Amino acid sequence: MYWEKELEILERKNLQKLQVERLMKTMRQAANAPYYGRVPEIRAFLDSGMTSIEQIRELPFTSKEDLRQDFPWGFLSTDKRDVVRLHSSSGTTGNPTVVYHNRHDLDSWANLMARSLFAAGVRDTDVFQNICGYGLFTGGLGFQYGVEKLGCLSIPAGAGNSPRQIKLMRDFGTTVAHAIPSYLGRLLDVFREEGFDPRRDTKLHTLVIGAEPHTEEHRRRIEEMFGVKAYNSFGLSEMNGPGVAFECTEQNGLHVWEDAYVVEIIDPQTLQPVADGEIGELVMTTLDRQAMPVIRYRTRDLTRFLPGECRCGRTHRRLDRISGRSDDMFIVKGCNVFPMQIEGVLMKLPEVGDDYRILLDTIDDQDEMIVEVEVKKEWFRGDLAFLDRLQRHITRLIRDEVLVRPLIKLVEPGSIPKAEGKAVRVIDQRKN
Ligand code: ADP
Ligand code: ZN
Repeated sequence: MYWEKELEILERKNLQKLQVERLMKTMRQAANAPYYGRVPEIRAFLDSGMTSIEQIRELPFTSKEDLRQDFPWGFLSTDKRDVVRLHSSSGTTGNPTVVYHNRHDLDSWANLMARSLFAAGVRDTDVFQNICGYGLFTGGLGFQYGVEKLGCLSIPAGAGNSPRQIKLMRDFGTTVAHAIPSYLGRLLDVFREEGFDPRRDTKLHTLVIGAEPHTEEHRRRIEEMFGVKAYNSFGLSEMNGPGVAFECTEQNGLHVWEDAYVVEIIDPQTLQPVADGEIGELVMTTLDRQAMPVIRYRTRDLTRFLPGECRCGRTHRRLDRISGRSDDMFIVKGCNVFPMQIEGVLMKLPEVGDDYRILLDTIDDQDEMIVEVEVKKEWFRGDLAFLDRLQRHITRLIRDEVLVRPLIKLVEPGSIPKAEGKAVRVIDQRKN
């Protein structure tokens, strides 16, 4: 039923006590790093102690810019020789952020991953295909070690090459696969081109999807297309990577492992905690990391705590699916828009394919939001009156949702350019 029962169903009072102990230990460790060694609030807690986890609010935040400024060693809290691996973001906008792990950290991460997968119903009898990039991106190795710890037969398939992915699935009887949601539509196309139907021609029963925002509608579609249960997996490199928060078989929000992280949700303007159940920015602190503890990290991801207890019995709180990053939001004609609002509208329509893209452009001195929408092959035929009706219908639905009238461009399936990794949903070409 549970991977680590004593921790997963710990009474909240005791869970918070454990958090305080682990946070004190984390601060002691962090104080070895040049950056955290300079933080007076950490010193103060180390001198006078901490009695309740709410006191974490007295500590300063750490931002992505902070992590970059002290690049590359400013956050290292241990001797360099203890470090056995680093992961790093792509760094397209300046210095990359780097995260270091020692043996303890890697073991702890693998355990969180195994716990997460177990909660989603994966067992050692499963054959697990990891369809994602291995290397500095944490989805590859992060899942790999967790899957091995759980004891599945792992297939480290890597990203891309759909015909080979399908062959591996069929040859070895893959039952569970992990991939980013925006890839799965493409994979399905290749299944069809090869004359296969994943529902009939594979043994898949579970997909783990994550690493990028997606809507409930998109999840349901994936479940339908592949004939599986799909579970949401959330993580970020600064907090290890995958294994931070995961859906259990109830599919009712993502349990955050609170023995390994302190989770807060703040109002990004006032920096104060939001009222319970309200959406805000996720702030996270590591509780079981040695080489590089991170304290009160502002993730920029927007979510809320879900109320009530989960039927699975786990006491660790659940997050709602991430509705986007605060920096995903764009303003057009004075309205604030999140790409996921648009995805939510599109994925409900059976005629719409799996890909879409939002272009922001200046046309005749006016800002416009152009939404390119792939229409499924069976609908994208010569029936112009039908396509015209569909276009008007989508225009109306999106306008009602975001209060801006979009220009809708219906396009053929497969015509929107694909990103290498995570999907790029918004392209801003406005002149201003
Ligand atoms: P990058 O910042 O380069 O994308 P990461 O691989 O660390 O690097 O990505 C972490 C980010 O990916 C998270 O902060 C979040 O924005 C997004 N993300 C990860 N998992 C999910 C998920 N299940 N749902 C929505 N967004 C996710
Ligand atoms: Zn649960």
